[in-house]
Amino acid sequence: MVHHIPNLVVMDTAASEGLSQRLAAISASATMAITAKANSLRAAGRAVIGFGAGEPDFATPVHIVEAAVAACSEPINHRYSPAAGLPELRDAVVVSTKAHSGLAVERANVVISSGGKGALFAAFAALIDPGEEVLLPSPYWVSYPEAIALFGGVVRVVPTTVADGFRVSVDALDAAVTERTKALIFVSPSNPSGAVYPPEEVAAIGRWAADRGIWVITDEIYDHLVYDNAQHVSMPVAAPDIVDRCIVVNGTSKTFAMTGWRVGWAIAPQEVADAIGKFQSHSMSNVSNVSQRAAIAALTGPMGPVKEMYRAFDQRRREMYRHLIEIPGIAVNEPEGAFYAFPSVAGQLGHSLGGRTASSSLDLAALLLEEIEIAVVPGEAFGSPGYCRLSFALADADIVEGLERWQNLVS
Ligand code: PLP
Repeated sequence: MVHHIPNLVVMDTAASEGLSQRLAAISASATMAITAKANSLRAAGRAVIGFGAGEPDFATPVHIVEAAVAACSEPINHRYSPAAGLPELRDAVVVSTKAHSGLAVERANVVISSGGKGALFAAFAALIDPGEEVLLPSPYWVSYPEAIALFGGVVRVVPTTVADGFRVSVDALDAAVTERTKALIFVSPSNPSGAVYPPEEVAAIGRWAADRGIWVITDEIYDHLVYDNAQHVSMPVAAPDIVDRCIVVNGTSKTFAMTGWRVGWAIAPQEVADAIGKFQSHSMSNVSNVSQRAAIAALTGPMGPVKEMYRAFDQRRREMYRHLIEIPGIAVNEPEGAFYAFPSVAGQLGHSLGGRTASSSLDLAALLLEEIEIAVVPGEAFGSPGYCRLSFALADADIVEGLERWQNLVS
């Protein structure tokens, strides 16, 4: 039988006239662009070493996967469930949060979201009105400015540098405040800088925000990944005065190597938690029940596999730092948390690198990919030109090989 198709519409991939102003203003993630370029080189058979990963390179621990497999067979998990999350998972978050960070909350304060990103997005929906300002220390994680802008918020960047350990001071925050300031984004351990704020600085920033009546969204998604003497302290634990104006964001992605499962959460005062639940009930609804069951197994199960991954990251962190400090033209702090180093590459710009020169960190990232086939993420993506982010979530041998290539290029 022949089908006649009277009005075949061919999508014009270039057309964007109908795009909303909100989305037209959003830029694609620069981290994605470099990954795509590295992938296409790899597909062409080139031995690219990728320092761009923002996720653990380990498989999710077996007991978590097994819980998900079992959950697949239970018809109850084939149905809609509450938009704020399965009660058992919200309770597991209550217990694990108390045990790990000492923050005492109730189920009503916890909302399960699609990853930490979903929780952040919902938090902005709950808090930000158009024209309100959000303080964002740089370097910042790429999604923050875009997500804030989607809700009409105005980002006020507060820069930090390698010299101040990428930690923002109360004085710098104070200088950036206006009468329209609604919230501060606080991230420790930090992506991309790997910095961890000491408890007294977390407390000082929290007290400052409480005194000013400013909300704090504290992103604690890397809270299990702190090394050596660095110590993670949860913002509302360090500064109890902020608890009524604080949203804690966390999730399973980084700690349990579960980035693809999409389970995160927001912990917030009940009115805000309710608003986030309402927002989700009209948008994404519940996170996949199978993923939520896996997250329950993660939070209530043995922590041995997490400790093993932690030890591997710690070892790679040392390896990366040891090699980075040997490369001329680089200034770098030893990463204290997460799985990133964030060297300043200012000393390499404008100098000959194997016969070519780079005038910006963006240029340098392209040069490194083309000349020595290593993929790093330029600081421009994080609001800090002159730097590059290198993830150490990759095999030890690749870290060594990649950084030796860089050193040979410069020497
Ligand atoms: N917050 C920070 C600082 C991150 O680095 C990431 C992921 O890279 C997220 C939140 C989002 O995590 P998820 O994958 O759970 O959405």
